[in-house]
Amino acid sequence: MAIKENLQTIENRIDLACKRCKRNPSDITLINVSKTKPIEILQEGYEAGMRLFGENKVQEIRDKYIAFDKEDIYWHMIGHLQRNKVKYIVDKVALIHSVDSYRLAQMIHQESLKKNLVSEILIQVNIANEQTKFGLDNNDVLDLITDISQLTNIKIMGLMTIAPFVDDSEDNRLIFRNLHKLSVDIKEQNIDNVSMDVLSMGMTNDFEVAIEEGATMIRIGTALFGNRNYIKR
Ligand SMILES: *Cc1c(COP(=O)(O)O)cnc(C)c1O
Repeated sequence: MAIKENLQTIENRIDLACKRCKRNPSDITLINVSKTKPIEILQEGYEAGMRLFGENKVQEIRDKYIAFDKEDIYWHMIGHLQRNKVKYIVDKVALIHSVDSYRLAQMIHQESLKKNLVSEILIQVNIANEQTKFGLDNNDVLDLITDISQLTNIKIMGLMTIAPFVDDSEDNRLIFRNLHKLSVDIKEQNIDNVSMDVLSMGMTNDFEVAIEEGATMIRIGTALFGNRNYIKR
């Protein structure tokens, strides 16, 4: 698999998207979504220059953290996180993208306190207001952020969303625009301990539109590593 070429292609597309909206490519952080991929593939990515890896399963992060032990790589938790599993990863991940409840934040705070660290998190917002299982309604976000900002061992860095899978990425433009708007609104509140500098949105099928609408982190799997083979358990 030509991961190096895939990465080059994505970097070129990021540059082009940035040109269209007069942004600086260095303001866009690419999260290489390596979920389901074996260590050899991550190693190939590493050799091509990848340092940030996105995973969505606690067990997989734990396994890869041990098996792929490099000083200069960072793990991002991008999947739904259960409270009883927080303790396994707070000291292993650089950023948790998927905080959608106070109870989860409280658990991250408690486990971080125990390990004497501050965990950086994003609030996952369900901006599409769909009947999806996880994520928050737009209106509740400010209240949640205000509550979480009181927790000393958590730092809220911004917002994250997963847009629906669509054939035409233009269909997600308004979702991205609204999430950006929301993050600007929240930033204007100047809440202590809340930065709102990170906007994690855009995946293989829609990252260019997300960049045009203000994404600072894009999460890409398929376009870098190919299709995922899920093993049924
Ligand atoms: C799998 C996943 C991605 C990557 O999706 P691709 O379409 O393969 O780029 C991004 N974000 C989240 C939260 C994911 O679970």
